[in-house]
Amino acid sequence: MRRPMDIFESLESEVRSYCRGWPAVFQKATGSHVYDEDGRAFLDFFAGAGTLNYGHNNPQLKEKLLTYLADDNIVHSLDMYTVAKRNFLKTFQEVILEPRGLDYKVQFPGPAGTNAVEAALKLARKYTGRETVVSFTNAFHGMSLGALAVTGNSMKRNGAGIPLGHSMPMPFDNYLDGQTPDFLLFERLLDDSGSGLDEPAAVIVETVQGEGGLNVAAPEWLRGLADLCKRHGILLIVDDVQMGCGRTGPFFSFEEAGIVPDIVCLSKSLSGYGLPFALTLLKPELDVWEPGEHNGTFRGPNPAFVTATAALDFWTGEGMEKQTIAKGEQIEAALDRIAAGHSGPVTGVRGRGLAQGISFAEPETASAVCAAAFERGLLMETSGPESEVVKLLPPLTTTTDELAEGLDIIADSVDAVLV
Ligand code: PLP
Repeated sequence: MRRPMDIFESLESEVRSYCRGWPAVFQKATGSHVYDEDGRAFLDFFAGAGTLNYGHNNPQLKEKLLTYLADDNIVHSLDMYTVAKRNFLKTFQEVILEPRGLDYKVQFPGPAGTNAVEAALKLARKYTGRETVVSFTNAFHGMSLGALAVTGNSMKRNGAGIPLGHSMPMPFDNYLDGQTPDFLLFERLLDDSGSGLDEPAAVIVETVQGEGGLNVAAPEWLRGLADLCKRHGILLIVDDVQMGCGRTGPFFSFEEAGIVPDIVCLSKSLSGYGLPFALTLLKPELDVWEPGEHNGTFRGPNPAFVTATAALDFWTGEGMEKQTIAKGEQIEAALDRIAAGHSGPVTGVRGRGLAQGISFAEPETASAVCAAAFERGLLMETSGPESEVVKLLPPLTTTTDELAEGLDIIADSVDAVLV
């Protein structure tokens, strides 16, 4: 008898990954729930790895998208001027940039996060005429070669098959357990002409390392980094692909630190609907591109412009930010209780806003907890260098009742695994 998974397992490459932890064939999704083809509901604390901040098939966004398609509006347009793109740019300027006093030009790279990162790296190198980009331990910036060169994970790096160069890793905040003053090594290498560190073009950083295990950079650390970059003429790139669009509270995750990066990468939840869409924001003086110098076929995703514009409605007041911070506190309190009940196997509660998790001494515990949660109807993934962190990324629109339900499932799952 053919099993429902057969075609995936026989035809799809071995590279497939998320599906291995969730043996179900998914069919439908609304809000914070996805449903498999038998109609079984799962509460989604994965949200497309941070792509569905406004939930699945958000009705406000869906209505705009369906109307746009039904009226034969343009879908594909490379970087031609379109009405949908004009509406997006105007709304992005009015709702996001101007109220924050941010002066950025907008570059449309290819549609994925890694495309936004490649554009940022290339531009920083072109503008400064330097090659080296400094990244941080446990960083994740994407799977194309430039982005992989500034990514920490050795398994992912090995997949490149060639040396990954022109980059230099430095310790992320608290990597050395508070034993060493921040940036001691970095400053020393920069100040010593014999250190072997070429003058960097840029530093690329995540304010919270999503894939790297929910490591949080303190606001003071980010301010110190911004100051170091300024003093040394190094461009500061914030990769807000996963933590931007409100995941930690404010629209940009760096707002709390009060820094203004030179370049910002956005993607994932930008379209709000799960449609591929990315942006690279750059300070106007950095805009030294020649026309077409960084190109790509999929840089005019008009359906994504439409849903992204509709999603910005969530950001016209402070409600979204406040609710996310409050929901983050709800999660933190529940995870703290779980940690207190299992000190030893649980090594900590990590993260910020609606990107939080629990780290375990044994990586196998984290994957077993995710498997137990799946059995109980909850989707979550692991992160961290050894996949030792259970990571919660619910949609920002998840209700407090749904959060409580999911957090109860996590508590039950941890109890069941650590009997
Ligand atoms: N940057 C960060 C911080 C990410 O978390 C990711 C993906 O998880 C990427 C870049 C790459 O994005 P994509 O998978 O869309 O290429």
